Amino acid sequence: MTDHITAKTQITGLIGNPVEHSVSPIFQNKLCEIMDIPSLYLPFRVLEGDLGKVIDAFKVLNVKGFNVTIPYKTEILDFLSEISEEASIMEAVNTVKIHGDKLYGYNTDGLGFIRALESQGVQIKDKNVVMLGAGGAARAAVVKLAQHGAKQIAILNRTEDKARKLSELVSRKVADVVVSAELSQDSINKFASNCDILVNSTSVGMWPNIDKCPVDAEDVFVNHPIVFDMVYNPLKTKFLSLAEKNSCKVISGLGMLVYQGVCAFEIWHNVRVPVEVGTDLISRLEEYFT
Ligand code: NAP
Repeated sequence: MTDHITAKTQITGLIGNPVEHSVSPIFQNKLCEIMDIPSLYLPFRVLEGDLGKVIDAFKVLNVKGFNVTIPYKTEILDFLSEISEEASIMEAVNTVKIHGDKLYGYNTDGLGFIRALESQGVQIKDKNVVMLGAGGAARAAVVKLAQHGAKQIAILNRTEDKARKLSELVSRKVADVVVSAELSQDSINKFASNCDILVNSTSVGMWPNIDKCPVDAEDVFVNHPIVFDMVYNPLKTKFLSLAEKNSCKVISGLGMLVYQGVCAFEIWHNVRVPVEVGTDLISRLEEYFT
């Protein structure tokens, strides 16, 4: 690892609080090594009220760019010179590139989700998607699904009002293909029979609550949709196990995690990361999580 550091090494990193749990430094530094880019990725825990000072320091120290995690994904907007269209729709930034005195903001969560699907041979165009959940991760994914030509996206959420607001936002800003409903057995039954891709974007089933599942009945798998769980710890959630038992193709959230990072890496370093490298990083992280 230290062999990789030279006088030309540039710095990228992650800001948030907490950051100690993050696996981004593990795969981002491996990515620098594989892609032969002289750069180092470091975690920075930023305390409340310190965001401006940290950004000033990054500019002075020629930091090339950074990822942003909770609780700064919205607060960072105040420090940006420009923001990408999708980050502006999502009202959240997870990637910043620094160029001179200017900061440019992006959101790669949604594209990471799409690339994770595409890397498994799944195309979005004309597909019917059911999204369980309407939080930040759902918002990023639904915007990109609509941009990629999904035929219909049904957002089902415990708090129906949040699903409705997300549906209205995407219909207004991207494409009028989104409907919303409460996350209940009735609405699942209604949308499941016509579903090609079923996504869990709720936190239900995440460690340590690994015996929980966002759906109660197996009817949801009746049409054998491709089933994606954004949760990646554990890798095989109860939701994915049920889907597999019902003969569905399943995809864990690890691919999305890796590809949102890959997209950020591409923005900072102006390169394209080949699919095989993404696949390699995912298998390395699978070992880490098992
Ligand atoms: P968030 O903004 O806090 O949203 C949480 C979502 O989960 C909301 O829709 C919430 O519904 C729902 N929810 C929580 N507890 C629930 C319960 N007991 N029953 C039903 N619904 C429940 O969080 P987020 O950022 O969207 O993240 C959501 C999940 O995605 C987390 O597990 C996170 O780790 C994962 N994620 C993964 C990636 C990746 O790269 N793989 C990226 C981002 C997030 P209400 O609106 O009703 O509260």
